[in-house]
Amino acid sequence: MQFLKNKYQRAYNKIMKYASIVLPIPIPKVLEGEGSIKKLANEKKLKKLKNILIVTDKILVKLNLLDDLLVSLKENNINYIIYDAVQPNPTIENIENGLILYKKNKCDGIIAFGGGSPMDCAKIIGARVSNPYMSVRRMKGLFRVFLPIPPFFCIPTTAGTGSETTIAAVITDPTTHEKFAINDIKLVPKIAVLDPNLMLGLPKHITSTTGLDALTHAVEAFIGLNGTKFTNEKAKNAVKLIFNNLEEVYNNPKNIEARNNMALASFDAGVAFTRAYIGYVHAIAHNMGGMYGVPHGLANAIILPYVLEYYGESIINKLADLAKVTKIEDNKDNNKTLAKKFINKIKEMNKKMEIPTSIKELKMSDIPLLAKRALKEANPAYPVPKIMNYEDCQNLIKKLLP
Ligand SMILES: [Zn+2]
Repeated sequence: MQFLKNKYQRAYNKIMKYASIVLPIPIPKVLEGEGSIKKLANEKKLKKLKNILIVTDKILVKLNLLDDLLVSLKENNINYIIYDAVQPNPTIENIENGLILYKKNKCDGIIAFGGGSPMDCAKIIGARVSNPYMSVRRMKGLFRVFLPIPPFFCIPTTAGTGSETTIAAVITDPTTHEKFAINDIKLVPKIAVLDPNLMLGLPKHITSTTGLDALTHAVEAFIGLNGTKFTNEKAKNAVKLIFNNLEEVYNNPKNIEARNNMALASFDAGVAFTRAYIGYVHAIAHNMGGMYGVPHGLANAIILPYVLEYYGESIINKLADLAKVTKIEDNKDNNKTLAKKFINKIKEMNKKMEIPTSIKELKMSDIPLLAKRALKEANPAYPVPKIMNYEDCQNLIKKLLP
């Protein structure tokens, strides 16, 4: 039975790999560097708009982080209305309220400003604007956003989710406590603004956990079976940038160059995983989020080394490749040693940034359900290097017990 299931998973992965090659996922134009936020309103695609909905959250408004954007919109005679009610895990209600505001003000474009939550919420507000007969729930899954969304721009204020370049938006249904993803190439923004100035004030634990989320995206995209030459290059570049800059921004939050590198890493990791997909780290982390509200990046950071160890032999050569770009290798090292060094380096980074080695909310009695849900998410969808069965998954989750 397991043998047939595995066969089916591999066939499914192949079809998805082919689909991702024939369906061209667009890459947003990137405005990068210090002060790039001021350049967005001068872009042709934005200049022709009259009334923009800015989707953000209250904290960012309070921190006056939007000021430069608002001034430049005014200078270019572009009107805007701010929707700042997005919650940390955006809900269907958040989307519907944003939609009402968009229609009421006759908006003709959307700017998302913030971390993953405002970006994901903005994507689906856009999807609802152009597909009014599709409810949020009905768009769940793959390619169910039928008509293109209005002109859409992303300004990330964290370096991690990669939502500024991915086809995905994760939404929460508070009635069922279910988190689900809507994936469609129409959700990729036209322009992504990567301005390190917006990230200087990030709290330390947000810097570390979002950065480790980006690392997980890059590693899972690279070690999975659906990577291409293009995604592998992007993933390797992201890993290199994260290894060279994450601890630096954690210790010196105002280091602009390192912040800039982390923004680029998050973007490249996003480019890689939206094409090559993710694996069991994310599948388990999503369910820790759904069951206990563990923040996404934190859950990934804790789980990543355990899953890499579980994959074992199947990823030795790939981890060795990653170890080489991060320059932790010695000329004498064989691939097995390099792979081990790579995993140890992640553990070391986690320790230095005060990431725990277990999930404090995790209860033994929940493990069967968590394993069932994680496998439902990952099998057959994720092109993982080694397929996990129910027992393996339970054993892995047990290692995360406090
Ligand atoms: Zn993630």
